[in-house]
Amino acid sequence: MRIAIVGSGPSGCYSAQALRRAYPTAEICVFDALKTPYGLIRYGVAADHQGTKAIVRQFARQFEREDVRFFGGIEVGTHVSLDQLRAAFDIVVLAHGLHGDTPLETPGARDGSVYGAGQITRLLNGHPEESGPSPTLGASLAIIGHGNVAMDLGRLLLKRGEDFTGTDIDDEAHHALSCHLDTIHLIGRSAPTEAKFDIKMASEILDLPGVTHSYHGIGEDDGGPNSPRRELFSAAPRDVDRPRAHVHWWFRTSPVSVEREGTQIALALRTGEVQKSTVSVDSIISAIGFSADARQQLYPIDPAARESGRLERGLYVAGWARRGPRGTIPDQRADARSLAALISSELPHPAGMPGIEALADEVANASDYAAWLEIDRLERETAMPGRIRSKSRRG
Ligand SMILES: Cc1cc2nc3c(=O)[nH]c(=O)nc-3n(C[C@H](O)[C@H](O)[C@H](O)COP(=O)(O)OP(=O)(O)OC[C@H]3O[C@@H](n4cnc5c(N)ncnc54)[C@H](O)[C@@H]3O)c2cc1C
Repeated sequence: MRIAIVGSGPSGCYSAQALRRAYPTAEICVFDALKTPYGLIRYGVAADHQGTKAIVRQFARQFEREDVRFFGGIEVGTHVSLDQLRAAFDIVVLAHGLHGDTPLETPGARDGSVYGAGQITRLLNGHPEESGPSPTLGASLAIIGHGNVAMDLGRLLLKRGEDFTGTDIDDEAHHALSCHLDTIHLIGRSAPTEAKFDIKMASEILDLPGVTHSYHGIGEDDGGPNSPRRELFSAAPRDVDRPRAHVHWWFRTSPVSVEREGTQIALALRTGEVQKSTVSVDSIISAIGFSADARQQLYPIDPAARESGRLERGLYVAGWARRGPRGTIPDQRADARSLAALISSELPHPAGMPGIEALADEVANASDYAAWLEIDRLERETAMPGRIRSKSRRG
């Protein structure tokens, strides 16, 4: 059996793992547009959550010991077409994720004053496609969205350089983005009880030293007196020695309009049905989700495919590409296992495809797993004091 997997993020790696078990002698080739494997684990997961990033050790085993081959720097759709892959492999799994930031539709939000959460998390994670100078977010920032990505951003931008000991944060980007920051508005349309963030993620912001908080849009009966989410936001303001930053938590609140006023932005908000307010900020980050960019439109994915993971016989879809930008890394593991079970029930025998040999020209300049190990070694060796690696932007 010859198997191609497009994307080496969690869903691609878990798919390779599950398909290796289903087909112990198969040729398995994982293609990634970047020279470095692991997708959002490397370029999305926050630098101060190294425990989460450590999952890559498990994925490394399959490249090192289970004969799964890595072809980095090969963008499917550019260096090799999907048709070529399908003509060479019995099974193709699209696990290319979603790279684009879902744009904020608020009137005025498209005039360049709004950054996407994906762009900012890539900057903080040293992504090779964000190699230009980082923007400066100014003193006052609004983050639209109450998901875990918004929580990551709020926390990372409020932390200072010394808080990142033992991480691989991109210090230059972090400094440029956050050096003047003293106020963050975290704006979400749900009540605290329904907000998408995990309690642990909100707590990590509430526990930051030197940061004070105020809450808007919390109702008397939000979740009842014993609701942990309610308690989180109803505690009396903590005494903070020498406060350095303030977070406004806005619940039941949506942005209404974005207007430039000189160097400032007037962000009009509506809380609940009637309450209107305007906050003056220097910049806005939209953290309302992700969508496919041009590189991730290799095949139309309809609702039936989202349900089953099957696009056609021999062609499948996994991970965020399948379900949209929902689901954590462990979710990708469960999905990959069920997809491998479906594939092996449909395709018990190979159809005699030629495999990677047929694409020798297309992958002649691919960067292999050994090249990644070399990048990894250099990044660790050149780490600045207190950091575990200094990410190369050569990916
Ligand atoms: C900022 C952020 C922080 C997160 N933090 C956490 C966390 O702390 N814990 C957690 O459990 N989950 C977290 N998640 C969610 C988690 O990252 C996703 O569940 C997971 O990465 C989805 O995996 P995936 O493989 O589908 O996509 P990705 O991880 O995006 O991998 C897709 C891969 O495909 C490659 N690719 C794209 N297009 C092509 C192409 N045309 N040809 C070849 N290769 C291509 C990309 O380069 C990439 O390597 C976070 C997500 C984000 C955005």
